[in-house]
Amino acid sequence: MASLSTFINKLGKRAGRKAYNAYHQEYRNTHRRRIRAYNIEYKRKRGAGLPTKSTHGRAARKARNTQKHRLYVKARYAKQKGVGGSYTLQQWHALLKQYDYRCAICRKRKPLTADHIVPVSLWRTFYRPWIEDGTMTYQCNDIENIQPLCALCNSIKSNKLMGDGDFVAFREDL
Ligand SMILES: [Zn+2]
Repeated sequence: MASLSTFINKLGKRAGRKAYNAYHQEYRNTHRRRIRAYNIEYKRKRGAGLPTKSTHGRAARKARNTQKHRLYVKARYAKQKGVGGSYTLQQWHALLKQYDYRCAICRKRKPLTADHIVPVSLWRTFYRPWIEDGTMTYQCNDIENIQPLCALCNSIKSNKLMGDGDFVAFREDL
């Protein structure tokens, strides 16, 4: 579909915008039935909890790769800081489902990002929740130490400890 930038590049800012609006008005006028059918189908899918967008193709692949890239960045950061662990995209999606797609702190349904329950910066110094009977059960960047937070709660939390109660064992020797 012709994008706004295509029109602006061709005709300049003002005329381009005008032509773009006219083009889409025309499209809406000539495809009323098709748009209506699309909207009905979209609502049906949403109501049934089915994906509304294609799960294959370029856009979907790009979205998946963006998510994968974020995981990679997090794992690399954790490794740089000397803490290990990793989780898969599937584990992250399962976690979101477990939290009912809500932020772990404010419980609101907003866009969610992965947050380290025990922050990477504190993991080695103050806490070792991964030790049970002297055996390592999980590491900092494993899914057990990840919770979904909205952007607001994430920025408030920063590198402090907040969230679901039973996650941290204090080091007894501190
Ligand atoms: Zn929140």
